Amino acid sequence: MAVPGFDKVSFIHAPTPLEWMERLSKDQPGAKLWVKRDDCTGLAFGGNKARKLEYLVADAQRQGADVLVTSGGIQSNHARQTAAVAARFGMECSLVLEPVEGTPDDHYGSSGNVLLDSLLGADIVYAAVDQALEDQVQVVADQLILQGKKPYVIPVGGSNLVGAMGYVECALELIWQAEQMDISIDAVVVATGSVGTHAGLLAGFEMVQAAIPVYGISVSRDAEAQEEKVLTLATEILETLGLESEDLANTVQVSDHYVGEGYGIPTEGGLDAIRLLAQHEGILLDPVYTGKAMHGLLDMQAESFFLENMNVVFIHTGGAPGLFAYESVL
Ligand SMILES: *Cc1c(COP(=O)(O)O)cnc(C)c1O
Repeated sequence: MAVPGFDKVSFIHAPTPLEWMERLSKDQPGAKLWVKRDDCTGLAFGGNKARKLEYLVADAQRQGADVLVTSGGIQSNHARQTAAVAARFGMECSLVLEPVEGTPDDHYGSSGNVLLDSLLGADIVYAAVDQALEDQVQVVADQLILQGKKPYVIPVGGSNLVGAMGYVECALELIWQAEQMDISIDAVVVATGSVGTHAGLLAGFEMVQAAIPVYGISVSRDAEAQEEKVLTLATEILETLGLESEDLANTVQVSDHYVGEGYGIPTEGGLDAIRLLAQHEGILLDPVYTGKAMHGLLDMQAESFFLENMNVVFIHTGGAPGLFAYESVL
């Protein structure tokens, strides 16, 4: 069911499962730990970008576009899911990918997501490091127009008003699901990067006045800058939906303790979290986003941040295809 006022195409496997991580909860005592399996959204290994793309593709189709253009790091999960969606809807796809400083030399440029991008038929343009990424995306879009094509440019991570609707919808899905399962959700923990996921969840909970705190674990920016970006997009969403946004500022919460040296650079704690989840739950996290976010959740659990009778939901936003790019550190 689309968010009122927005169109979407439907292709994800929804509702994604909400599962109790029983062995992890026993190994790491405290609150009951759940996982919302948005790594299982279905298209070409899934992930959170698929939800956003349901809305973005509908918008692209409405505008008569025939090429999806987007950008990100070489191992962008968003780029891979955009390539898959383009294939699924009979569109072309151009990806502008940039190197990420501090990432491993050996497989980063050839395996994982970028391997899948070419398999999915996307056209890859490697960005120069000394020029703004958006400018290079614009050059690609302009070239496509000269060729008589109709490009639709999707921002990094699909995080604009339209894309974020996917996570407004996810928030509503989660609440519905918890009702069906007869549990009450006390907190949500999620990796936060280009902010569409975090902002969409906050706005969705706000929309139905569900007082569920969302703890964002930053994978790149410092907490203040990240909170500002989340607040800006969440406010835009609520205003567009004709809802109050005054109280929102108090609800935006981000930790930047788990970023490590920077975006895309693995941390020891994040790698440990990947191993822990793999070996207790058979769930695959990734070094860039969900490993770091799980590290944050595990610390909160260890510090008794949550009460023992609470249900805490980790949103698994995907990313496991990126594991193969990090073979040398795993
Ligand atoms: C993009 C991404 C995120 C972050 O989501 P944003 O909406 O960009 O904040 C988290 N996890 C994974 C695996 C991602 O690919």
